[in-house]
Amino acid sequence: MQTKYVFVTGGVVSSLGKGLATSSIGALLRARGYRVTAVKIDPYINVDAGTMRPYEHGEVFVTSDGAETDLDLGTYERFLDVPMSRANNVTTGQVYQSVIEKERRGSYLSQTVQVIPHVTDEIKGRIREAGEAAHAEIVLVEIGGTVGDIESLPFLEAVRQMRFEAGPGNCVYLHVTLLPFLGTSEEFKTKPTQHSVATLRGVGVQPDGIILRSNSPVPDEVRSKIALFTNVEARDVFNSFDTEFIYAVPEILEQQGIGRFLERRLDLEKLTPELRAWHEAVRILRAPDERVVIGIVGKYVAMPDAYLSLMEALKHAGIANRARVDFRWINAEAVLGDDLGALAGLDGILVPGGFGVRGIEGKVRAATYARTEGVPYLGICLGMQIAVIEYARNVAGLEAANSTEFDPYTPHPVVDLMPEQLDLADMGGTMRLGNWPMMVTPGTKLAELYAGQLGSDGTNGGTVLERHRHRYEVNPAYVETLQVAGLTVSGVTPGMQGRGAGLVEAVELPDHPFFVGLQSHPEFGSRLMRASPPFRGFIEAAVSYQGARAREHAAARA
Ligand code: GLN
Repeated sequence: MQTKYVFVTGGVVSSLGKGLATSSIGALLRARGYRVTAVKIDPYINVDAGTMRPYEHGEVFVTSDGAETDLDLGTYERFLDVPMSRANNVTTGQVYQSVIEKERRGSYLSQTVQVIPHVTDEIKGRIREAGEAAHAEIVLVEIGGTVGDIESLPFLEAVRQMRFEAGPGNCVYLHVTLLPFLGTSEEFKTKPTQHSVATLRGVGVQPDGIILRSNSPVPDEVRSKIALFTNVEARDVFNSFDTEFIYAVPEILEQQGIGRFLERRLDLEKLTPELRAWHEAVRILRAPDERVVIGIVGKYVAMPDAYLSLMEALKHAGIANRARVDFRWINAEAVLGDDLGALAGLDGILVPGGFGVRGIEGKVRAATYARTEGVPYLGICLGMQIAVIEYARNVAGLEAANSTEFDPYTPHPVVDLMPEQLDLADMGGTMRLGNWPMMVTPGTKLAELYAGQLGSDGTNGGTVLERHRHRYEVNPAYVETLQVAGLTVSGVTPGMQGRGAGLVEAVELPDHPFFVGLQSHPEFGSRLMRASPPFRGFIEAAVSYQGARAREHAAARA
């Protein structure tokens, strides 16, 4: 089958949920058995998202091959259940970098190098390569930004050319726009959509379908009106209205016939999507048996998108335990001194990844509280380093122990820069990134959780792969002291060169219901129907912790 393309553009405003629309389409095509991949185009000049502020752009998603990418790639992975790679995120920076390199090498002979055709060819080449690398039958291409932006013009031009080259029946254009509802006149306003489609047509792209984003379901007459003004058939105007659960969006769009639309436009066979497991997961989200409150003690708590994969991993873990997970965002800087009020009533405490000294002491206090009160604790990356610092200071007697990231002069650098990070000049793409193996220590909680992946047949030598993104590590010089003081090292990197025992990948406390820290970020690999093991265990522990507390409470009242 010739490779088919679905191009998704956005209009009116940014942050519309184009990524979610793209991912939902991907899920519906996957549910029909197609091999699908998705490419995110980011028209900014940064080469990748690694150097950008989480406060502004949300989390940096790490692919298994170690690329630091836009968070939409995480949504693609979770909805399509296929791994993304470096090739799936294309930025203006990458495109120009390689065009300029080719020009310097003389690859363009003596031509004048121009946006059309050289830059557009580079863009098309990258889209095709991403599809080939994934052996995809259908490639989804989401163009970041909003139609009308100066930055996105070369990309729109490239995808316009692609329809021409791939021929009819092989490309479809979908435009996602905001349909505002004006309270004063009590009506949906179609004008922004009309203008946005006109702008898109101005660059030569006539959308085949439109997805209207709205707060509530849109009546049919609004669809007809939009159809009239945009040359799109009314049945091809879809509506993605706000819903509490993002995983319900594929169901909503399928009900409106987006699957049939894609089959028609892409000359595909009519198929019934296999969505049973998906429906079941959404059903549990809607009607859970249990409910737990998880406190996330972090620095970017005002911007939950900074922890997107983490939240999704917690939701998946909730589904695995038939529980709804409610989040309580706790600003680490607000966990001060003895005032631990912010931590009261939680069923679990999670300290996520992070960088820089701000809020560190509050996170250490949260770890102390979890350890001494028996509250389930999950430490991810920085959260694992925090658990080690806490244990060093308060149990192993290493006063003022710290990470050299936060205190270069600490008397006990229990967390220290990895040797290979010492002489780096570039900040972009130079951390320890992507998949690295972790050898899980038999007999630990972690081994129990990963049992399904550990291969008792010895195929993987007791190792699992998780994604990483860090510069610091537990200082090997302190590992023995910490172990003697009672900390269990539940995972290490197998035989890292010149390091004997290997780097600490995970720690846990033996006499605690659930106190686990991981140097890696297992949240990136979590799936709707295949929760990440440490997250699954954490929520399971939170459910029983809550149950035990409720029983205590009932006993006290009786
Ligand atoms: N700042 C820590 C380090 O670089 C933790 C990184 C993280 O949490 N992703 O090692």
